[in-house]
Amino acid sequence: MKLKTLAAASTASLAALALLTASGMALGTASMRREVMCLFNMVREVRSIMELEVHVLSHERENARVALTQRPEHAHARDAAEREVKRWMEELRANPVTADNAPAFSAAETEVERYLAAHAKAGGVAPPSTADLAASSREADGAYAALERLLSAKLEEAQVARARVDRVSRLSNAMSVAAVLALLAGTLATLWQIRRCLYRPLLALRAAIDRYGAGSHDARAPHGGLDELREIAVAFNEMAAALAEQRRKQLGILASVAHDLRNPLAALKLTVDRLRPDRPLPPEQQLRPMLARIGKEAARCDRMLTDLMDIARIEGGELELRSEVRDARELAREVVELYRPAATAHELGLSLPEGPVPLRCDPIRIEQVLNNLVANAIKYSPGGGAVQVAVAREGAEVTIAVSDRGVGIAREDQGRLFERYFRAPSSGRVAPGVGLGLWAAQRIAEAHGGRIEVTSAPGEGSTFTLHLPG
Ligand code: ADP
Repeated sequence: MKLKTLAAASTASLAALALLTASGMALGTASMRREVMCLFNMVREVRSIMELEVHVLSHERENARVALTQRPEHAHARDAAEREVKRWMEELRANPVTADNAPAFSAAETEVERYLAAHAKAGGVAPPSTADLAASSREADGAYAALERLLSAKLEEAQVARARVDRVSRLSNAMSVAAVLALLAGTLATLWQIRRCLYRPLLALRAAIDRYGAGSHDARAPHGGLDELREIAVAFNEMAAALAEQRRKQLGILASVAHDLRNPLAALKLTVDRLRPDRPLPPEQQLRPMLARIGKEAARCDRMLTDLMDIARIEGGELELRSEVRDARELAREVVELYRPAATAHELGLSLPEGPVPLRCDPIRIEQVLNNLVANAIKYSPGGGAVQVAVAREGAEVTIAVSDRGVGIAREDQGRLFERYFRAPSSGRVAPGVGLGLWAAQRIAEAHGGRIEVTSAPGEGSTFTLHLPG
């Protein structure tokens, strides 16, 4: 999984959960509000009905008092009760009538109106007669009974509404708890995913880097977590493996140089032993070759150490050229003459043009390249044979080609010859080496604006050609 995907998935799931929770809560609150409003209206209706009952009773009572005492305050109280009856009737009509209690409502309305109509027919404000009182009382009983029926219908309806409110409240509570739990679970799942894919792999990577930094070169980062972290871990492991391989090769070079240095040093020691202070000096004709040998072996050690330092310099990008104009024929001749005495099994040949071949170069470095090419030509033709060094001018270029009739190089290896530490499996077995000579030679040729090319056939020999701008 990619970091972008994890971030997008976490944000989207948390946002969806939050939205779900919020809309669930809003829905619960809205339906609670609706049910509570409904209950509130019913309470108002119940109150209106009860007020109506009270005022119908009060109207009837005051009417009876008027008949008995004929006092005007009772007539006023009766009229006030009548106004109240009408007012509460209006109030009741203003409330919504549900289909269930519509018959009870219209029956109560009719009965109340009939009662008021009977009272008006009996003379309204005048003291009622006994017969009128009896008729009015019957009408009042009818209205009261109708109001009672409406009241019980309303109370029943209120019970149902209350049960509904309880249900909605329980449902809304359950929904809120479920939404909060889902939000909590979503947050925990996101945190767990972040810990699993991001935090722990990061810690493991950091620990591997720390271990590597503390000197444990076999420390490797585990490949886990997000794609980006896995890529970093793979890159770190590849880098650590490459460094380990380079270290191994560098140690190999050191071991090989130390081994190579032992031969000239052993020869030097043997020769110097013969010149110990407690022994008489040998005669001059023996002394001179011994001193020449000491000089030769010391020069060999010096050359090996210079080569090693050059490699270090090239690796560090510090190759410095001291250019001057030299005759390329002279450089080739010097190298061949250097190797001729030692290469007794080989026929070292030189092919030079007639006139001088001027070349602007660092002669020490170019000799180093030619030394390497000639040394390889001898080294990789163990059976002896011709080794030819040919100088030529080709257009704007000067070429120096070194050919041998040695083991040759397989075609598939030729492209990799100038890589650092590469040794061709076919020819590498023939002689010891570390695979740095051609790499250094190619870097030197490139520093001069030139290159080295190879043509070779296995079993037939090879030609390495140094091309330099003339
Ligand atoms: P080294 O000789 O120390 O291995 P070089 O960089 O000089 O290193 O050479 C790299 C490889 O190229 C050698 O290991 C060998 O396989 C191949 N090679 C170089 N010169 C020749 C040659 N003249 N004939 C055959 N193979 C050669």
